[in-house]
Amino acid sequence: MTLRSLYTKVTETLEKAGAQTPAFEAIWLIDAVFPFDRLKLLAEGDREVEEDLCTKIQSLAQRRAQGEPLQYITGQWEFFGRKYYVGEGVLIPRDDTEVVLTCTFPYLDSIKNKAELKILDLCSGSGIIAISLKKRYESAQVTAVELSDKALPYLKKNAKENKADINIIHADIFDCVADFSDGEFDLIISNPPYVTDEDMKNLQSEVRFEPELALKGGKDGCDFYRRIVPLYAPKLKQGGMLAFEYDSSQAEIIEALMRNAGFENITVFDDIGGVHRAINGTLV
Ligand code: GLN
Repeated sequence: MTLRSLYTKVTETLEKAGAQTPAFEAIWLIDAVFPFDRLKLLAEGDREVEEDLCTKIQSLAQRRAQGEPLQYITGQWEFFGRKYYVGEGVLIPRDDTEVVLTCTFPYLDSIKNKAELKILDLCSGSGIIAISLKKRYESAQVTAVELSDKALPYLKKNAKENKADINIIHADIFDCVADFSDGEFDLIISNPPYVTDEDMKNLQSEVRFEPELALKGGKDGCDFYRRIVPLYAPKLKQGGMLAFEYDSSQAEIIEALMRNAGFENITVFDDIGGVHRAINGTLV
């Protein structure tokens, strides 16, 4: 079958299944098995795709048609210009998370002695935050903590493949806090589970494939912030920054938690959809 006919066929399968962006997804599914220049689909349309590869691609399209997230099927996704391996048991990188990452840059850029920079990423998942920070601040010492047995191999592989020399700790963030010294970090950053119990009941069908452990944040979604803020604030240096991803409805609760723990310059940042998605503040 030609690449063009395969593309049309896969697009139709996805369209029938109600995918919102069938043509876009068809390209990614084909590319996962038969890599081609995505920008030259039309020019390369006459290329012949072997029968066994077509069968394989069509079976991937069937999985997608049954609701499995595209990223689990292709096994990888991009975040902030780098490739990350993902699969069942690890949260899929979302563009939203760029907000919490980039909101820390002005502060980190302002630190003179980068060689002494120490960063802690809690609930690291696939490692997108810790790895992106390590790549930007190469002399920094970056530590990533992740509890999930399933996510851990992805975190390790992503650090290795992206050549990011980070410390990885396989632990519950609430158990390993004593491993860190008081006043140790310049930045503590986290995208913890923050979906409310109510929203957990109405998750988008793709999100149901993702690990509950990475999503479920309790009744109001704030269980993790309530525990992280008082527990980890002492681990920051004076003037150090705490940064969280969160859901816009949680802004006031988290801001109050941070204020009560002695944070100042508390600022919220919006995602491209125009809703509050990240918050940071510095410890006085
Ligand atoms: N942004 C994710 C969602 O709404 C939630 C991620 C998280 O809980 N950290 O599906």
